[in-house]
Amino acid sequence: MTLKRLFTLLLLAALALPVQAEGFITRLLNKPVPGGVAVVTLPEQAEAPRAEYLDQPLLVIREDDKRWIAIAGIPLTAKAGTDHIELADGRRLAFNITDRKYPEQHIQLKNQRHVTPDPEHLKRIQRELDEQIAAYKTFSARQPSNLLFDRPVDGRLSSAFGLRRFFNGEERNPHSGLDFAAPTGTSIKAPAAGQVILVGDYFFNGKTVFVDHGQGLISMFCHLSSIDVKVGDELARGAHVGKVGATGRATGPHLHWNVSLNNTRVDPSLFIGAFMP
Ligand code: ZN
Repeated sequence: MTLKRLFTLLLLAALALPVQAEGFITRLLNKPVPGGVAVVTLPEQAEAPRAEYLDQPLLVIREDDKRWIAIAGIPLTAKAGTDHIELADGRRLAFNITDRKYPEQHIQLKNQRHVTPDPEHLKRIQRELDEQIAAYKTFSARQPSNLLFDRPVDGRLSSAFGLRRFFNGEERNPHSGLDFAAPTGTSIKAPAAGQVILVGDYFFNGKTVFVDHGQGLISMFCHLSSIDVKVGDELARGAHVGKVGATGRATGPHLHWNVSLNNTRVDPSLFIGAFMP
């Protein structure tokens, strides 16, 4: 079966689920694998409990008006086994991480400078990285408008999250997001409501927009040909953000979309019902 066909089948399966079904968010998002998400039921109390994972505050919502749940992003580097989230009173709640194998991609680049950036660029790259990490650490009080995200663009999924990439045999950072193939100029739309917290034109990511959906749930869109929002803008679900392009280190026009929770980049396919176990 081709990847495209598998994605389509999985999407159809997800769409067939009744959206208002009991425990829908838990069933949609609870994929406790490296690069996935753990949904942990919290103690019953009047106010939303506060919880942390890896020293970062967690997204906490009320599910079915019945229970508090924490939604924790699990780093790609996490090992299989028992892990914990921590409540404000110090209590620890366990969850189990299971293994997930990510495929490898080997790319031969003729120009070694595209494999290892020039030293003159390293300062810029570090500065831009720091700026983006700060944005990922944003934790606002707002409730995400929807956790079942809309697809930010029309276009096939062209490169999966977590792909282990080797340039000329040297392993580089794994793929931190999900790519959509789409022509330059295609409109990118906010998958949920949010506030624009950072825009930039970066060495690797090109023209980039960060949107805060609330409580540490952040979308990042990059390689844009045009950014059509500014920092501070409030975006409704489905609002136009910018246009697909190939700026930065991109081999062709596509949208690269990162989803981050508790400052951890997780598989965006989870949020659009396209997760492949
Ligand atoms: Zn990408």
